[in-house]
Amino acid sequence: MDFDQFGEVFDNVEERRLGQTQTEYKEWAVERLQDYHTTTVTYTGDNNVTYNKTCEPNCSDISVQSIEPVYLPEVRHTTDIQEYTYPYEYYAAGPSRVTAEDGIHQCVHSDTSGVDETYTYCPNCGAIACSSHTKRERLEGEPVCTGCAVTVRFALKTKYFYDEGNLEAFRQEYADMPLHEKAMENKILVAGNVVATLLLVVGII
Ligand SMILES: [Zn+2]
Ligand SMILES: [Zn+2]
Repeated sequence: MDFDQFGEVFDNVEERRLGQTQTEYKEWAVERLQDYHTTTVTYTGDNNVTYNKTCEPNCSDISVQSIEPVYLPEVRHTTDIQEYTYPYEYYAAGPSRVTAEDGIHQCVHSDTSGVDETYTYCPNCGAIACSSHTKRERLEGEPVCTGCAVTVRFALKTKYFYDEGNLEAFRQEYADMPLHEKAMENKILVAGNVVATLLLVVGII
């Protein structure tokens, strides 16, 4: 195999040799075929007794005709985005792939991982974070992760900002807001007030 051809595409190419002898691989294959063809049958005899019998082929029942070594590419790549590096590694066989390491489906701020979770990219620092470590940036309305956000409480509710500049810009915006709009910065508080007002109305009636 000519490994030089990969040098142009990959930063580093490492060739690994077979780990065992041909005889050892033959034995390994026979064992697996034995397991594969082993089955347990249940039958009832003339005496009305039910028997279980395990049928297992003997080693001599299986013959390995030939062994052909092939190269299995194990590809590892990393993606650098701002402060983070994300590794991804897989075995490739034609169109099939088996993932060995997945650093992309993984929150950088917690143990949350796997393809079933939802992740959001933080444009502020390059983090890939799970939903509980992703917030909405108050000034720009875009996602921001809890790792890099500057946080301050407005109307008793924590707000998340990309940086001090955005925080100051929002502080100004907030100062100019009429009171009812300021209160809207904390929806739970607003909902609480509505309930309180309703109770008051009911009380009056
Ligand atoms: Zn997380
Ligand atoms: Zn971030």
